[in-house]
Amino acid sequence: MTFSLHPTYDDPRTAELVERLRDYLDGELADYERERGITPAGRLTRADLEPVWRRSRELGFYGIHLPEEYGGQNLTHRQLAALKEEAGASGRVLSHCVLGDMGGPLRAGDILKHATAHQLDTYLLPLVRGKRACCFSLTETDAGSDVRSMRTVAVRDGDGYRLTGHKVFSSAGPFADFAIVVARMAGTGEQEGDKPQFSAFLVDLDSPGCRVEDGATPMSGEHIESDIVLDDCHVPAANLLGEEGKGMRIALGRVTTNRLLHCPTVLGAARRAVKLTLDRTRTRQVAGGPLLMLQAIQHKVADMATELYAARSMTYAALAALDEGREVHAEAFMCKLFVAESAFRILDEAVQIHGKEGLTQGNEIEYLFRKIRMFRVLTGTSEIQRNGIAKLLAFQH
Ligand SMILES: Cc1cc2nc3c(=O)[nH]c(=O)nc-3n(C[C@H](O)[C@H](O)[C@H](O)COP(=O)(O)OP(=O)(O)OC[C@H]3O[C@@H](n4cnc5c(N)ncnc54)[C@H](O)[C@@H]3O)c2cc1C
Repeated sequence: MTFSLHPTYDDPRTAELVERLRDYLDGELADYERERGITPAGRLTRADLEPVWRRSRELGFYGIHLPEEYGGQNLTHRQLAALKEEAGASGRVLSHCVLGDMGGPLRAGDILKHATAHQLDTYLLPLVRGKRACCFSLTETDAGSDVRSMRTVAVRDGDGYRLTGHKVFSSAGPFADFAIVVARMAGTGEQEGDKPQFSAFLVDLDSPGCRVEDGATPMSGEHIESDIVLDDCHVPAANLLGEEGKGMRIALGRVTTNRLLHCPTVLGAARRAVKLTLDRTRTRQVAGGPLLMLQAIQHKVADMATELYAARSMTYAALAALDEGREVHAEAFMCKLFVAESAFRILDEAVQIHGKEGLTQGNEIEYLFRKIRMFRVLTGTSEIQRNGIAKLLAFQH
C-alpha cells in the first residue's frame, strides 16, 4: 500500500465503487446538505435522514456490504473499508447515512446472522431497505467498559419478557424505530459467585413502558444520542435475539467487528484533516511567504502524513487477513488503539497549524478535532484495547 491523500485501487470493482461514491458525496449529497442548511452543530431530524437512506439505497450504497439475498453486493471487508474511508474523508455531515451507519444495517452489525424469519421480515429487512432504523443499547450510566455490571434486567413473563432499566448513549436513538437492548436475566448474577446471564432483545421504541429521551450531547456537538428508559416493558418472546443467556456474546461479537470497521471512518476524517491542513499551509501567508515554507511546519505535516500512512496500512492489512478468514482479535484491538491515538495526534497538529482558525467554532478542523477525540473512548477505550492486546499476548505467546 502506497501513501496518497486521494487513494486509487488496483481492484477494478473497488475503484469503480469509490469513484461513484465520491461523485455522490461531492455532488448530490453536498447539494442536499446545502439546500437544507445542514451543519454539524444543527439538530438532525428523521425527515433529513430518510431521503438520504432511500437515495443511497437506490444507488446501491445503503447496506452494500450485505449478501445479495438482502439486497447488498456482498463486499469484502476491504471493499467496505475503502467506501467507509471515502465517506469519512468527504466532510459531509450526512456521510454516516450513506452506507447505513446511522441507524441502518451497519449499526445492526452482524445480528442478521442470529435473526429468525420473523425478525428478518419485521425488523431487519425493513432496516436494510431504509424503511426502519435501529439503535444499539448496551451502555448504562454505571456500566460502560464494565458492561457486565449493567442493571437493566429481563424477567420472564408468560410468552415474553418484562424489561426494566435505563440505557444511555444509544447513538441514532432519535431516529430509531427499535433498539437492540442487552439485559441481565433476572435471577442470575445476584449471589456471590453466580455468573450473570445476558440476553439481547429487539425492542420497539413505541412499546408501552418504553421511553426515548434526549440523551447527553457529546463534545462533537451532535444531537444523535438517546436514553432508552424501560419501565416494565413487555417484549414478546419472538423478539429474543439468538438464545436466552447468549446476548452478551451477540452484542460483543458485533463490537469486535465494529472495532475494526470504525477505523476506516476515522482514517477518512484524519485524511481530510491532513488535506485541509496542507491547503491551509499553502495559502496562509506569514513573514512574507506561505506557512509551508517554514521547516517547523513542514515537519509537522510530514509527521501527520506518516502517522496516517502507518495507521492506514495496518488497518488494511488486518482487513485483508479478515477477508482471508483469519482470526484478527489482537489486530483489531491494535488497529482501534493505534488509529484512534494517531488520528488524535494528527488532529491536534492540524489545530496547531490552523492557529486561531483551528480554535474557532464553525471551522471544520475545530469540529473534526472534537469528533476524533471521542474515538479514544467510543467502541472500547484505548485502555480496554491495551488490556485486550496484553491478554492475548499472555495467553498466545
Ligand atoms: C458519542 C458516544 C456514542 C456512544 N454510542 C453508544 C451506543 O450507540 N451504544 C452503546 O451501548 N454505547 C455507546 N456509547 C458508550 C461507549 O461505548 C462508552 O462510553 C465506552 O464503552 C466507555 O465506557 P464509559 O464511558 O462508561 O467509561 P468507563 O468505563 O467509566 O471508563 C473510564 C476510564 O477508565 C478506564 N477503564 C475502565 N475500565 C478499565 C480497565 N479494566 N482497565 C483499564 N482502564 C479501564 C477507561 O479506559 C476510561 O479511561 C457511546 C458513547 C459516546 C460518548
